[in-house]
Amino acid sequence: MGYLVLARKYRPQKFEDVVKQEHITKALANALISGRLAHAILLSGPRGTGKTSIARILAKCVNCESGPTAAPCNSCRSCKEITSGHAADVFEIDGASNNKVENVRELRENANYMPAHSPYKIYIIDEVHMLSDSAFNALLKILEEPPAHVKFFFATTDPNKIPITILSRCQRHDCRRVDVDSIIKHMALLCEKESIDISPEALTIIAREADGSIRDALSLLNLIITSTTDRIGTEQIVDILGGLDRQSLFDVSQAVFDQDAGKIIEIIARLYDRGQNMIKLFSELLEHFRNLLVIKIDGSTGTLCDVSEFELNAMREQVKNIPQIYIHQILDVLFKEEYTIRQSSAPKLAVEMAFIRVIQIRPALSIETLIEKIDILQKGLTEKPPAESVSYPEQPPQTFGDDSKPAPAPQNQIPPNVTPDLTPNIIPDARDYQPPGAENEPPVAEVKEDNPTPIYEDAPRMNRQKVQIKDEPIEKSWEKILTTVANENPALAACFSDSQLKKISDNQLEVLFKTKQFNIKYANRDNHPSIIQNACSQYFGNAIQVSLSGRQAKSKSGMAQKKEVKTLENETLNHPLVEDAMKIFNGKIVEIKIL
Ligand SMILES: [Zn+2]
Repeated sequence: MGYLVLARKYRPQKFEDVVKQEHITKALANALISGRLAHAILLSGPRGTGKTSIARILAKCVNCESGPTAAPCNSCRSCKEITSGHAADVFEIDGASNNKVENVRELRENANYMPAHSPYKIYIIDEVHMLSDSAFNALLKILEEPPAHVKFFFATTDPNKIPITILSRCQRHDCRRVDVDSIIKHMALLCEKESIDISPEALTIIAREADGSIRDALSLLNLIITSTTDRIGTEQIVDILGGLDRQSLFDVSQAVFDQDAGKIIEIIARLYDRGQNMIKLFSELLEHFRNLLVIKIDGSTGTLCDVSEFELNAMREQVKNIPQIYIHQILDVLFKEEYTIRQSSAPKLAVEMAFIRVIQIRPALSIETLIEKIDILQKGLTEKPPAESVSYPEQPPQTFGDDSKPAPAPQNQIPPNVTPDLTPNIIPDARDYQPPGAENEPPVAEVKEDNPTPIYEDAPRMNRQKVQIKDEPIEKSWEKILTTVANENPALAACFSDSQLKKISDNQLEVLFKTKQFNIKYANRDNHPSIIQNACSQYFGNAIQVSLSGRQAKSKSGMAQKKEVKTLENETLNHPLVEDAMKIFNGKIVEIKIL
């Protein structure tokens, strides 16, 4: 026998030899054993996955002298004839070149005659979807009432083009695309039998180039074997096939994780010089990063990645210390760049730019880390004694015991309303307030105790009850109240760092903010007034009215308003909460809206 290419030499001769189509071979074997094999069988699936091989083995199973059997002897006359391709009773027809109605009519006439020496006449029609409509109609007639001695085995890569009338009369089996690892193992086995010295990396490149087709993989392997006499390594494969060496993909991903733009550009240049198609390179890199993400998500099995075990381990190692969310960010950028690269007249440049954008990503913190940081921040706020930051050294400590000497009521106080609800309900407008005259806060001493203007006052004066006086300094009381507030809303407590408990009389508390309009506004938002109210009531054991005071607006002129807005913006920018938020989220301020 002359030289046979690998694909022919190692064509499967029994069901066990078929790679990765066990779901079909088992079903067919069971049908044969139970004597329920259909008279028309359709095998569909991508090219090179074993459809025709299965059809031929099935023909042997049916016509073997020891058959019907699931394990043909491969030594009887029928088996030998089928193996050699010259069987008298097995007709292999190429549907693409015999697609006319005349061809099918001829087949029908021939089918009426009994087989020469086998139990069945078998028609294997490859690429059956290529038949013309009239040919399908002619085929339908014989499929409707086939002679008992006839079997049809059809193979197709495009079952959707087959009329439903034909499909409904066939038992259909779908061949799967063969995964890279299975192709590699199959090739490694053949290389061992043929004493071919080839590296696992080289087999990986061939398997990926084959794109799920065993036949293509063996054809490529054949090409390489005949092209070189040395040990086959990655370089020979890349030279012969012009493919991409897989190590380069790992080098690029490592350079991305190291944020080494120079290294990436160097690798891209090397591959470009070697003749690598840049669009294909980018697609491979996209898939590589997708695999890295999948392995990060499900590192234990890696069944969702069509790569060899060898690469799987390398990928696991590479992403071991890389946060999942960072790989996600990288993929996001790469996907956004894909269209540009495909459309670009300078794809190399486009790929380089895409990766420079990837390098510029600042790795995001995981949700767990963020929650941890927020917890620490909240804890810090809760533990921080707010009274310290609002103490006015110029003023002597005021105690709640000093009930007989109430501080003078603020001037221009808004008259109390009679709403029974204790929740303060006056929302101030930022423009009602006079911003501090300078960019910096005015000194504490400038706050005139006798001249505060109420920002809002809790109005209800019903159910007046005297506050139960606590025997502790007013700062201490305020600190405890703010601790209660912090438990419910740490940010709100932080905003009171700018405040001071000024006085207490009857069932009313007065809180004076120093200068920060931001804080006053924040304290008035949403349900914040009721949180403060409840904390005070809880502390004193009675329903307490709380009034928040700031400084009165002096002017509402255009200039003053602009100045006021500017001051509010400065206060916002310098506010510790905003600074903390920027630090945690690695953020920046894009816009400040005055509400
Ligand atoms: Zn046999």
